[in-house]
Amino acid sequence: MIIDTHAHLTSKEFSRDLDQCIRAAKDSGVARIVTVSEDLEDAKAALRLSRDSDLVRAGVGLFPTILDRGQAEEMYRFIREKMDELACIGEVGLDFWKVKDHEGREVQKEILSGFVELSKETGLPLNCHSRSAGRHIIELLLSLGAKKVQLHAFDARPGTALMGEEAGFFFSIPPSIVRSRQKQRLVRALRLESLLLESDAPVLGPEPGVRNEPKNTRIALEAIAEIKALPVEQVEETIFENSRRLYGERI
Ligand SMILES: [Zn+2]
Repeated sequence: MIIDTHAHLTSKEFSRDLDQCIRAAKDSGVARIVTVSEDLEDAKAALRLSRDSDLVRAGVGLFPTILDRGQAEEMYRFIREKMDELACIGEVGLDFWKVKDHEGREVQKEILSGFVELSKETGLPLNCHSRSAGRHIIELLLSLGAKKVQLHAFDARPGTALMGEEAGFFFSIPPSIVRSRQKQRLVRALRLESLLLESDAPVLGPEPGVRNEPKNTRIALEAIAEIKALPVEQVEETIFENSRRLYGERI
């Protein structure tokens, strides 16, 4: 049972053949796909998709480059309203790659803090993006007492990731691990019990520039098994249990 814990099925890249992609994922052993969203319109689309497909669960959030307190408030309300239908809060986080000014970064932290409070209030896990902000996001999450945390495609050094692991945070690994030394180092440093799988489709596939699909989540699984020198089935089982520890019955 493979769980793809972070994909963007509402992306226009899937507008023509989404059903086919979901079927292909199922055929390669993917039992659930958590489709995250980036704004309110996207959140509604993700929710619709989750109602239409047995495989799909919805994550609802505001992408961290959207520095708009009004949109954040709307999203907080939407999450409270729909919480019973959601798998997680996401995609939320910090992006210091795109947002370089101090003021913008402070707005990002403020908006993320609201999502952390909501996570504590609702019990929904946080599905977090961080880009060039690994240490900042872990420090913020720790200071706010966030408990249910997934850091997706984490781009910081293993030492920083270990701070999160100590707090019980999970790290989801995309298929691009086959071409990313940084992701390979991350997997080497972290315990298997801290790992999750994701596709991040349509990006972060095994081949740069080629549309990624949820079925490729299996490629990330196989790469992790190789690095950990363990049988694929054992790694699959442990990571499935990890997914259950974070998401419970929501997936
Ligand atoms: Zn994403």
